[in-house]
Amino acid sequence: MDKTRVTVRCRDCSFETVHERLRDARTAVDDHESSTGHGVDWTIESLDSGVSQAGADAGVCGRPDCANEDSPLVDPAPPETES
Ligand SMILES: [Zn+2]
Repeated sequence: MDKTRVTVRCRDCSFETVHERLRDARTAVDDHESSTGHGVDWTIESLDSGVSQAGADAGVCGRPDCANEDSPLVDPAPPETES
């Protein structure tokens, strides 16, 4: 249930890494963006349920509100520290 693979890929250079934890991936994204100013994409794949999240990112569910704009995958830093 914990089997997630996150592929981090830079849009502006050949930087690419794969992480098994979302937190590690986010760290890699933050590091690369802050050190280079590049735009970094990441793709979350759940190995248990196929590529459902990546599929949703591509809009395959067919619902307008599932398009890329609303996908959490396009926001590399969702707010989670509201303490
Ligand atoms: Zn880069």
